[in-house]
Parts: sequence; structure tokens; C-alpha cells
Amino acid sequence: MTLLQGKTALIFGVANDHSIAWGIAKSFHAHGARLEFSYAGEVLEKRVRPLAGSVGATFVESCDVSRDEDIAALFEKVGRDLGTIDVLVHSIGFANRDELSGPYYNTSRAGFHTAMDISVYSFTALARASLPYMNPGGALLTLTYYGSEKVTPNYNVMGVAKAALEATVRYLAYDLGKRRIRVNAISAGPVKTLAARGIAGFGDMLKSHAERAPLGRNVEVSEVGDAALFLASDLSTGVTGEVIFVDCGYNIMGF
Ligand code: NAD
Repeated sequence: MTLLQGKTALIFGVANDHSIAWGIAKSFHAHGARLEFSYAGEVLEKRVRPLAGSVGATFVESCDVSRDEDIAALFEKVGRDLGTIDVLVHSIGFANRDELSGPYYNTSRAGFHTAMDISVYSFTALARASLPYMNPGGALLTLTYYGSEKVTPNYNVMGVAKAALEATVRYLAYDLGKRRIRVNAISAGPVKTLAARGIAGFGDMLKSHAERAPLGRNVEVSEVGDAALFLASDLSTGVTGEVIFVDCGYNIMGF
């Protein structure tokens, strides 16, 4: 099957081959998409460039999404080098490590701003900057977690940020529906990645999800990738503003 044949996807958030963004890239690649990448900064370049090359990407550009000037420069290059795109994947989240343990009430003002800026506002900023280049029928995707709805000890300010991100998905879906651009989120179960390692007690989270989920295990990155493929492709032309769980069913359990 080639669900994304003829489509170009710009993927933000690959840090290494464990990243959820990389799982998404692999599913898109298997379905014929042209893939292009943006990464957080020079430190990651050595890891991202070979991965991007392995799926034929030629556009591999740095962009710190907390900087408006980086976003503007990136999309200037998108216009110049790619012309238009069909899919944008925002697989970016960040909170200072010291905000991800202990009581939520200890969240600092600066830590709150950082988490909201990088994990939430950046999706709005990328959506707006991409508009001149997004083809009608296009799709924007972001990644969230169940800690937005229910208390997950230590997830703290990221839970608050994910709640705001999910609301962002709905507002953007309303705005962009008129242009036939869809906006959705995947709420993934826990996956051992660089970002996840910053959350205190993440090992316990993995264990408890696997024990309680109806499928009796944790989700594979490839399963998140395949759900992203559905949301990016014409299989989901009637779906927008949604948060779709890909968590082996964990979220349906009450006890
Ligand atoms: P990851 O560490 O592989 O990816 C996080 C990415 O965010 C990295 O590529 C990092 O470079 C990027 N990033 C951070 N600050 C940035 C900045 N200022 N500018 C540009 N990029 C920046 O970890 P991941 O788990 O693949 O995270 C991807 C997304 O998935 C995040 O939104 C995360 O919250 C979400 N998520 C993760 C899990 C999980 O358990 N791993 C579960 C649900 C949702």
C-alpha cells in the first residue's frame, strides 16, 4: 500500500532512532511519502542527518521552536526548497527535569513558561508558519499523553501543558477546517525515549501501563507510527480536532 504516495511530510522531533517521530517517519516512508526533517539544534545534527538520509530526505534543517526567527527562517527554506508540504508532524515536548518530580505545586513560573512555550505554543507557531505552504487536504499532527486528563504523579507541568495542547488541536482544527486542513493528536502510551527518561519513576509508569492495559503490554513505536499514517492519509479525511489514544487501551480502565 502507498497511502502517502506523492505527499511530502515535514517532521519535527527526531532526536534519535527511539524517538516517536522516527517511528512515524518509518511508517510514512513505508507508504511512499517524501520525508523532510527539522531538528532542535546543532547537538542533534550528527544523529538526525544519517537517519534522515536513510529514508531519502534531503531537507534536514535545524530549528529551535522557542525562537520565532528560527521558525521564520525554516519556513523560508521550506518555500524555497520544497515548495509545498502535505503533512506536518509536531513531536516535540520539553520541561526542565526538576519540574518532573515531586509535588506539582512546586512548579516554578519560569519552568511553567518553558513547558508551555516549547510543548504547546510551538504547535500553534508551526501551524501558522506552515500555512502558506500547506496543500489543501493537508494534515497537522501532534503527540500528547493521558496525563492531560488524569493525574500522573511526577508528570506535573507536562500534564498541564498536554491539556493545553489538546485544546490547541481543537482550536486549530476549527480555524483550518475552512482550508481543508485537518489537525489531530495521538495520545501515546509510555515509550522509553530521551524525553521520557526525564520523568521521575518512568520505569514504574511503563510497568503499571503494561499490567493494566487491556492488551496486557506497552505500545510499540511502530503502532504510533501507523496511527499517524492513518491520520496523515486520505483514510481519515473525515477526522479532525481529535485526540486518538494509541495506548493498548490503558485509558479505558477505571480500576
Ligand atoms: P524524544 O526526546 O525522542 O523527542 C522529543 C523531541 O522534542 C526531541 O527531538 C527534541 O529535540 C525536541 N525538542 C525539545 N525542545 C525543542 C526545541 N526547543 N525546538 C525543537 N525541538 C525541540 O521523545 P519522544 O517521547 O519521542 O517525544 C515526542 C513527543 O511525544 C513529545 O511531545 C512527548 O511529550 C510525546 N509523548 C511521549 C510519550 C512517551 O512516553 N515517550 C508518550 C506520549 C506522548
